[in-house]
Amino acid sequence: MTPADLAFDRDHIWHPYTSMSQPLPVYPVVAAHQTDLHLTDGRKLIDGMSSWWAAIHGYNHPRLNQAMRAQIEQMSHVMFGGITHPSAVALCRQLVEMTPAGLETVFLADSGSVAVEVSLKMALQYWQARGERRQRFLTLRNGYHGDTFAAMSVCDPQNSMHSLYQGYLPSHLFAVAPACGFDDEWQDRDTDDFERLIRLHAGELAAVILEPIVQGAGGMRFYHPRYLQRVRELCDRHNVLLIADEIATGFGRTGKLFACEHAGISPDILCVGKALTGGTMTLSATLTTREVANTISNGEAGCFMHGPTFMGNPLACAVASESLAILQENRWQQQVSTIGTQLKAALLPLQAMPEVAHARVLGTIGVIETHRPVNMAALQAFFVERGVWIRPFGKLIYLMPPYIIKPAALKQLTDAIAAALERPELFLHA
Ligand code: PMP
Repeated sequence: MTPADLAFDRDHIWHPYTSMSQPLPVYPVVAAHQTDLHLTDGRKLIDGMSSWWAAIHGYNHPRLNQAMRAQIEQMSHVMFGGITHPSAVALCRQLVEMTPAGLETVFLADSGSVAVEVSLKMALQYWQARGERRQRFLTLRNGYHGDTFAAMSVCDPQNSMHSLYQGYLPSHLFAVAPACGFDDEWQDRDTDDFERLIRLHAGELAAVILEPIVQGAGGMRFYHPRYLQRVRELCDRHNVLLIADEIATGFGRTGKLFACEHAGISPDILCVGKALTGGTMTLSATLTTREVANTISNGEAGCFMHGPTFMGNPLACAVASESLAILQENRWQQQVSTIGTQLKAALLPLQAMPEVAHARVLGTIGVIETHRPVNMAALQAFFVERGVWIRPFGKLIYLMPPYIIKPAALKQLTDAIAAALERPELFLHA
């Protein structure tokens, strides 16, 4: 990429959560192989982010590439209304098989946020079909579910700046975020606020929506499996649907194929995305039970009211199906556990450093929470100089590398974090 390309980018192209008038620097990547991102100038960066939880098998995976090539030779896309195709059927069959018990129907969509929209609409249509007016959702503080309007309305009200969209966003209910960490001793009182809210509002609640076990973009917090079990019990007791948003946690990232497995529960509706295609194409899925699906279908509308243009995109389905086939060969468990062990050994001792508020690791997710917010541009440049790609935000420096990462590359990532924590100038004043 030329300097003119970068100037055009700066002047004309929005990037995620950035300013057009004062954009932060962007780094030109021209290729990616396995766990390396290749910059225009020939430098290689070890990827610690899996492109935001997605590229679990690494980049340019020969089997994923082959699956896409084979599908392109047949058709890249065909409409899903009135038509089906082998890649969608293969993928949905795998999803029904591998996801928690009871989830038997699959709605394919384009992105995680849309999967969440679909899940909320399913819950609303379910109660409408049952003749009950239930239009509110109960969720947890510190949650994150996407950037479209309905998804935003169930994100943490402070983190997602609900105030910017006041008037547009419906007001839902937010329980105090779980306080008991994944490995902490369980305290029954942790679910008190959730219990109070569900008891008070059950009659108007369409569903509870939450990220099981790991609250991702809302704080990278790992909570106790007992919390999730209690939520499932309370949803059953009060007859409220449970939506699990596994868009970030799905497909092995937390050490289980799905984070719900840590608690041994099944949700009524499940959202997946991100790693679904091994990080190659945008695709998401919302699964639900036969009971929810039939109730919606037998309701007044006679169908579920959603149908995106690129629903069931064959290219995305083909590569997703191959990505799941790679997972089903079960090497991921060993990979995830090896990465987790190395992350624990390297990151947990950093807890002793003055900049560090908390260090935690679950599955392949390693998090350093700092006392002070990071100076994003400076810290990013520091990491790039050390040959690693780590994208911190706020007070969080975290890793979620591709499962194929080698120990030496992972060490380079954790060494870079340790070195950054020695440099007070990379942090802003609190
Ligand atoms: N839910 C969760 C838990 C997520 O982490 C994300 C993405 N960060 C989304 C939903 C939204 O997905 P997308 O960005 O693909 O719309």
